[in-house]
Amino acid sequence: MTIKKLIVQKYGGATLADPEKIKHAAKRIFELHQSGIQVVVVVSAMGQTTNQLIDLAKQVSIRPQLRELDMLLTVGERISMSLVSMALNDLGCPAISFTGSQAGILTDESHVNANIIDVKAFRVEEALKENKVVILAGFQGVSPITKEITTLGRGGSDTSAVAMAGYLNADRCEILKDVDCIYTADPKLVSNAKPIKHLNYRQLIEMTSWGAKVLHHRSVEMAQQKKVILYVGPASNSLSDGTIVTSDFEFTQQQAIAINSFDQVFQLEMHAPISEAAKDLNEVLQKNQIGRPQFLYSESTTHLITGPQEILNAIETFESKQDTYKIKNKRYSSVSVTYSQTVSDAEMQTSEALLNKNNIKIFKSFSMLNSLHFFVSTDQKNEAIQILHSQIT
Ligand code: ASP
Ligand code: MG
Repeated sequence: MTIKKLIVQKYGGATLADPEKIKHAAKRIFELHQSGIQVVVVVSAMGQTTNQLIDLAKQVSIRPQLRELDMLLTVGERISMSLVSMALNDLGCPAISFTGSQAGILTDESHVNANIIDVKAFRVEEALKENKVVILAGFQGVSPITKEITTLGRGGSDTSAVAMAGYLNADRCEILKDVDCIYTADPKLVSNAKPIKHLNYRQLIEMTSWGAKVLHHRSVEMAQQKKVILYVGPASNSLSDGTIVTSDFEFTQQQAIAINSFDQVFQLEMHAPISEAAKDLNEVLQKNQIGRPQFLYSESTTHLITGPQEILNAIETFESKQDTYKIKNKRYSSVSVTYSQTVSDAEMQTSEALLNKNNIKIFKSFSMLNSLHFFVSTDQKNEAIQILHSQIT
């Protein structure tokens, strides 16, 4: 008996934004299934649905309860999953949709930014045995402790897809988007951003931890842990090369591979030594279910912190209510260069010289294993990105 190939495909919100796009996705899924491959599809909410649901919550409540917010937000993916399943059944393709909890996506107890702790996808396996395509609502799970429905943080349906691919031992996990692949920089900011054909997990983790929005950062960490091969490509074209992410890929030489940024860096004042302050802040954020910021860089009692905007917004809202920390300034942005290999002083000197020559004032610079980071004034962020990108050949 030959073992059938299994592919997990994740369709992003933009690729399911209207009924035509949903029908297009269904056609692609149907063709894959007809070619003899088992298919599990993970969907995001259609277009801007999640943002609209958040706005709606804000119109009825100043500070929506996080449990209720999760009840509301999970609706978005539920709309997509049922519509995709209907469109597939219409084409004659047997399909069934499941919510995160029906599919056994188990999370911790936190709301709005829960972590997947286990997968027990028995119903998914049963449906696959019946030769059905399974459509799974991304971005959501259930806590086996509280029995509550949870969500995985903005962009979290990538993580749902990787978790399912890991559990099912899928041949690969395809993240399908309205862009063609992963680029060397955000093409909206850098007109000559170039496609990246191949990356390893470590490089993509570095990129997503420092602002690349192409994938949910936790999804890449999970892909590395579970050894899930990732493909990032356009939903509109099944033949595109896209970007492949594996563990063993290496560039043949040292080179800058991507530039990413976070819009805001907060300078926080906390009256505690570095390690305690980091712990305290993380505890405060966890307790209030804000989630962990991407990064904390400290000098004495001043701590520089950055991360996804929704986490910074939460830190800001929370600041006014207590005295654990004070936001001293938020005039900076981070701009990061990810390298193919370990960086040395030489790379730092080249980048610093380039920024200096172009009159970009560097507020702080530092290197990590495979990356360089520059905190620059927010008005100079886009220019700094373009200048640093000029190093990428
Ligand atoms: N719909 C959710 C969001 O926009 C999850 C996702 O798209 O992955 O954040
Ligand atoms: Mg979305």
